[in-house]
Amino acid sequence: MSYTGPDFDPPRPRRFRRGPLTVAVAALVPGALLGWLVYEAVGGPGDGGGSGNASVRTSAASSGTPSGPSPGSGSGSPDGKEPSASATSTAPPSPSASAPAASGPLKGKVVVVDPGHNPGNFRHTGEINRQVDIGTNRKECDTTGTSTDAGYTEAAFTLDVARRLRTLLERQGATVRLTQNADRPYGPCVDERARIGNQARADAAVSIHADGSAAGNRGFHVILPGAVHAGAADTRRIVGPSRALGERIAGNFVRATGSAPSDYVGGGTGLVTREDLGGLNLSTVPKVFIECGNMRDSKDAALLTSGAWRQKAAQGISEGIVSFLRGR
Ligand code: ZN
Repeated sequence: MSYTGPDFDPPRPRRFRRGPLTVAVAALVPGALLGWLVYEAVGGPGDGGGSGNASVRTSAASSGTPSGPSPGSGSGSPDGKEPSASATSTAPPSPSASAPAASGPLKGKVVVVDPGHNPGNFRHTGEINRQVDIGTNRKECDTTGTSTDAGYTEAAFTLDVARRLRTLLERQGATVRLTQNADRPYGPCVDERARIGNQARADAAVSIHADGSAAGNRGFHVILPGAVHAGAADTRRIVGPSRALGERIAGNFVRATGSAPSDYVGGGTGLVTREDLGGLNLSTVPKVFIECGNMRDSKDAALLTSGAWRQKAAQGISEGIVSFLRGR
């Protein structure tokens, strides 16, 4: 492929910022609306990768609580297939299991990071089209995911962000497990992705995605589990903590990336509740999805294909998880 962007832009080993401003803002971020207000305060999106986070106005913290997200699935299509996209090369696989945590504020905490899709899914359509039970109904084992016009696949994106996120969380002392690390030919199926988090007794789980919505639609959104109780699915005990996790991630994602919440789902909150995703329905631990941007929009794609931006994305997700786990 002619694409030569992110794979040549190595992760930047940044120290986790825990200066007074970071701590203060993290403590004051209750939800996505605050994140949006902070976003507005720093002057909106910059097409070059965000407006930075040096000028966060803490006055935004006095602005009340977020309104509820729009229920239902909206127009998002996180698992939309893009059969025309080809699999691009990814970084060499490394073991899925993390190294033992040494020390840090998250010592003893387990985080499961789920890179959506799998670069090999394009070559295993028969296997991933197999139906699996997600409690409420049956659904495909997995999907190929979407891609940018230039052929940068969602599966490559999710793996890269997941690896960066793992590094950041391990630096905080967490034990991190990836559900896949391009170390298997396809999948796992969505039910297994949930099971991995459950069996690890994860304190938090996050599934990384990028959306395949229409060009012109922009921004990120965090998907929260709705309350479902059917078959093997029973999310009633995780709805509350998952919302808390999702609000922390959304607020920190805005601050770290400068990206705006989705302008096409969620009513500007950056939060969407869904009851049709097996990875959420079957989870028994606090879990959210994040759609980091829209790969089908050229401006969002310019961000998603930037290694520097992906590092900011991982930083925002990490700080949201840290905030959630330290606040319990
Ligand atoms: Zn996806």
